[in-house]
Amino acid sequence: MSLLLELNAIETFYGQSQALFGVDLSIQQGQIVALMGRNGMGKTTTIRSICGMSKISAGAMYFAGVDIATLASHKIGRLGVGLVPEGRRCFSNLTVTENLLVAARENTNNDLATWDLSRVEALFPRLAERREQSAATLSGGEQQMLTIGRALMTNPKLLILDEATEGLAPVVRQEIWQAIKRLKKEGQSILIVDKTLKELLPIVDHCVILERGKTVFNGAPGAMDSHIQQQFLGI
Ligand code: ATP
Repeated sequence: MSLLLELNAIETFYGQSQALFGVDLSIQQGQIVALMGRNGMGKTTTIRSICGMSKISAGAMYFAGVDIATLASHKIGRLGVGLVPEGRRCFSNLTVTENLLVAARENTNNDLATWDLSRVEALFPRLAERREQSAATLSGGEQQMLTIGRALMTNPKLLILDEATEGLAPVVRQEIWQAIKRLKKEGQSILIVDKTLKELLPIVDHCVILERGKTVFNGAPGAMDSHIQQQFLGI
């Protein structure tokens, strides 16, 4: 296994207000890592920092061996970070197929199979049924599938899912969890934020818990005892 992403004591501000106070996180190739913590603890800010949308003021960040601490967002994307942000982001006036095609990028991952339209449609058969429809006409769940499909079309080395199942109907959530399990089997590295621990914990290799912008737990899901869960996750 090789190290794909490494964050070392990163700190991030919004203007004068500090949101991250020392986040440590690493992802080995092929791993699924869960980023956890109660509301407002810094999960989305950590993701924004990785993607270059919020600049870190201290600490170090390496992706695939490249120092990304000061890189522009589009350059980090080109290195192979595929983000599925909170809320759904697709082009509502384009069809499903057009949305997928505009996101397509060459596969530079030697060890992962290439993503194309047919592979995304096989992962999410609902998208194949809606190929010619504009994204605006899709249900919330279908738009989420399309957003994940768009990120996969970039052939990411690392897929980041920020609350991908939030606010969706149970049946659609299940379809998305099935897809995530399939991605894991196919060797896709994933950083995931999700509140559904029942689905999340069985599939993750490693958990990182944030408390007030700082990493307070970094270990296997099995090492997260009830005391830790209660103290940092409130369950
Ligand atoms: P949630 O689960 O609610 O999405 P989170 O763990 O993702 O929470 P963040 O959204 O990263 O947490 O927020 C971390 C801290 O940064 C919080 O104190 C929040 O109020 C603050 N924050 C987030 N976004 C901004 C912003 N745009 N401007 C100022 N402060 C912000």
